[in-house]
Amino acid sequence: MRPAGANERSLASKNWFYTEDAEEPIMQRKLLEILACPIDKHHPLELLDFSVNNQTIIEGVLLCSQCGRYYPIIDEIPVMLPDNLRSRKEDLEFLEKWKAKLPESVVQSGKPWNLNGP
Ligand SMILES: [Zn+2]
Repeated sequence: MRPAGANERSLASKNWFYTEDAEEPIMQRKLLEILACPIDKHHPLELLDFSVNNQTIIEGVLLCSQCGRYYPIIDEIPVMLPDNLRSRKEDLEFLEKWKAKLPESVVQSGKPWNLNGP
């Protein structure tokens, strides 16, 4: 696990998936289903899983049908950041890695950047 505050992803901590009282972690998928787009608050987001371990999504993506943004799920953590805190380089690497499983519309015209860009 990365040290706290190591990068912007610490905003979305794995602690999200636990409550103080519950002995069992809340199913990650249930939590992913309640997330809204940080830009326009659209809900629900479309969830695609690329790599799953038991019920936990290791790698996947959340898609906002309203503004066309995609939000990578990396190492179980949804990266729900506004555009100015996103890493274009990491997002493009993510698109490149999963382009065979992503909808063509996301690869070619997803926001805030895509593989069709300059
Ligand atoms: Zn949106």
